[in-house]
Amino acid sequence: MRKTSRDLSDEEYNEPVYYCRSCHSLCILVDESLATDGWDGDYCGDCHSTDIGVCSIGDWMAEEERRERKRKQIEWSR
Ligand SMILES: [Zn+2]
Repeated sequence: MRKTSRDLSDEEYNEPVYYCRSCHSLCILVDESLATDGWDGDYCGDCHSTDIGVCSIGDWMAEEERRERKRKQIEWSR
């Protein structure tokens, strides 16, 4: 069975992750040769957005579950 945010221990829940604010992917790549003063050179490997956020893995999973529910609602309403 797939793990959900509710299955995590507190320690796991608070583990920080970097994610893409644009597509919510965890596939964040870093190219330090591209880095500038205001930017570490990290970007999304999926959509190439440079709008990278950080949150706890639990918050990320909760948001992912919300997104999945929304996707399913859209499918059902067709
Ligand atoms: Zn992205």
